[in-house]
Amino acid sequence: MSLSKHADVTIDDVCNAVLAYYPDADVSVLKRAHEFAEKVHGDQKRHSGEPYMVHPRSVAFILTELRLDVASIATAILHDTVEDTHATLEEVEKQFGTTIATLVDGVTKLSKITFKTSEEKQAENFRKMIIAMAKDIRVILVKLADRLHNMRTLEHLLPYKQKAIAQETLDIYAPIANRLGISSVKIELEDLCLRYLHPDIYYKLASKVHKTKREREKYIEEVCAMIQEKLKEYDLHGTVVGRPKHFHSIYKKMERRKIDFEQIHDLIAFRILLDNITECYKALGVIHATYKPVPGRFKDYIAIPKANKYQSLHSTVIGPHGERIEIQIRTNDMHQVAEHGIAAHWKYKEGRFESQDTNAVEWVNRLLEWHKDLSDPNEFLETVKIDLFAEDVYVFTPNGDVMEFPFGSSPLDFAYAVHTDVGNRCMGAKVNGKIVPLKYRLKSGDTVEILTSTTQTPSKDWLKLVKTSKAKAKIRAYIKIQERSRALALGKEMLEKELRLYSYTVQKLLKLPQLEEFLRRKGTKTLDEVLIYVGYGRMQPQTISQAVLPPEVLSTPKPEPKADDSVLKKIFDNAKKRTENKNAVTVENIDNILIRFARCCNPIPGDSIVGFVSRGRGVTVHTVACPKALDTESDRKIDVTWNLQVPIKRHVRIRVLSHDTAGILANMSQAISGCGVNISQANIRTTKDRKAVSMFEVEVANTEELAKVLSALEARKGVINVERVKS
Ligand code: MN
Repeated sequence: MSLSKHADVTIDDVCNAVLAYYPDADVSVLKRAHEFAEKVHGDQKRHSGEPYMVHPRSVAFILTELRLDVASIATAILHDTVEDTHATLEEVEKQFGTTIATLVDGVTKLSKITFKTSEEKQAENFRKMIIAMAKDIRVILVKLADRLHNMRTLEHLLPYKQKAIAQETLDIYAPIANRLGISSVKIELEDLCLRYLHPDIYYKLASKVHKTKREREKYIEEVCAMIQEKLKEYDLHGTVVGRPKHFHSIYKKMERRKIDFEQIHDLIAFRILLDNITECYKALGVIHATYKPVPGRFKDYIAIPKANKYQSLHSTVIGPHGERIEIQIRTNDMHQVAEHGIAAHWKYKEGRFESQDTNAVEWVNRLLEWHKDLSDPNEFLETVKIDLFAEDVYVFTPNGDVMEFPFGSSPLDFAYAVHTDVGNRCMGAKVNGKIVPLKYRLKSGDTVEILTSTTQTPSKDWLKLVKTSKAKAKIRAYIKIQERSRALALGKEMLEKELRLYSYTVQKLLKLPQLEEFLRRKGTKTLDEVLIYVGYGRMQPQTISQAVLPPEVLSTPKPEPKADDSVLKKIFDNAKKRTENKNAVTVENIDNILIRFARCCNPIPGDSIVGFVSRGRGVTVHTVACPKALDTESDRKIDVTWNLQVPIKRHVRIRVLSHDTAGILANMSQAISGCGVNISQANIRTTKDRKAVSMFEVEVANTEELAKVLSALEARKGVINVERVKS
């Protein structure tokens, strides 16, 4: 490893590296490629002053670490010949065959791309890059190795160039390496980017890490031995290694949590490699039994692999000296995939790599989906950037803090991440200064500001908008509390009313020993829990009175319920004002319950209806098809039917579209009153194209009468369309 990073490698080093993992490889082609490249590059020099060939050899060597095939490595050696020398693609093809020539061509095309600062340019070029990759993934792997070596030798360029290349690497290449699962390359690229983009932080971290190197090594050795020992006790034989985390990940953590280096404790990660999955979970058990796990820091990527196929168990535990340490547990196979990603899935067959492996094919297909159906280069770059950053979206708070969310998160997720109260009162958000709806999906780089209102409360629809489990849990908790308290109040009203029949009160009931027995039988501890059942319509208040009231009380004659004698008098009075027809709907098994017609769908006799119990409002009646009814908790649902014995009049609004001709309003009014139907309100407005939209509020007895009115209107001259307004 250190050989490739810090010293020139010879072509023999490259060949030997290939022979180490593929003993039968024909390395003569590599030697020929090297001779060819050396000849055409001539006395070209790199910015460092070194002979140019140092670069292609280093790139080739990096690829041997990913155990790539001979064609890829030959391509690495030849990758700059067509671009930077007089050599032509035809020559390469003649000497090295079609496969290598095609690969070299692919890399050359990528190298010709100069990423401009403007996003558009980047996007277009990036698209070419993806398409090139689509033809052969090896082009991308060579390009990544090329970029890695260029990043390793970036110090020889001017500072402004260093920054530009590092930024591009961080935006484009490191995420690609991540997406392809090649963590060794990704980690090194990210650390190099940090060094050039934030040198102050990089060198501070480097010196701190360096300063404590000796102690740390001793510590790592000690902990590894302890873990090893523990595992042995349980007959687990794995490899345990410890290593400092890479700088970029420390930096990201500092940024994310707004903390200093000193406050970051889990600088070291330990890795346990075992033979199979069962052993991994067993080892996890051993670790958690030995070291106290930090809550919320366990992740099971074995059961649920990352998008890039990464699999491992992660847990942060309190180590032997009370410090946090991160532990990763995985099988040797998973480790191969973790380090080499897609490259680990390329199989050797008869001297060449094949992507027969379904994993590799699936991988490439997913990469290709990125650029489907996108015509706008900016949009493309946006999408690609998001996709590259896997499941995560990073957004800014108005203070410039960065917060991380799962892909697809909405402003509500953000609001709940800030504070539960902010979430509960969230009525909208400003993203990059513009107001967006709650259903907006956060994008990386957005600056999000939450707008709150004291009158806002969470609704069930919100559950469809949020992605984070925190937001979901908080919304559910709010709804549950609301619904429970509504049900409780209604249940209490219903029981009070029932008890009044026996001149009894809830206070008195609470003192009865029979109540305790009743609650015990129902498996609850408090009357409130039973009342919630009553409120949800799952239990009749009579069930309670019959079971709990003493026989002498029950035998007292039931006084006839008088409307104005009810506990609910006030509510009933209100109800009278709101609806003059409390008996027009019969609620299953319950008499004298308050009925309210939902304003959203405004049911009239003849409509199919459904009821929902709600606090202080008795039962709300919706039409069966009302979207709001479909959304309401089925727990609160209750069967209701029209009581056709009770004649009522319901107000219904009708919208009529007509031509704007003289006397049209009078004409339509006649049509309505001709059916014997009273009009309680009418208004009309005209449109630019000489049409009129009229709105009538009429009083009808049922759907039949309404239908008559609608067809009478439709029959009038000049009328284009008639409809019942549902809300
Ligand atoms: Mn190059």
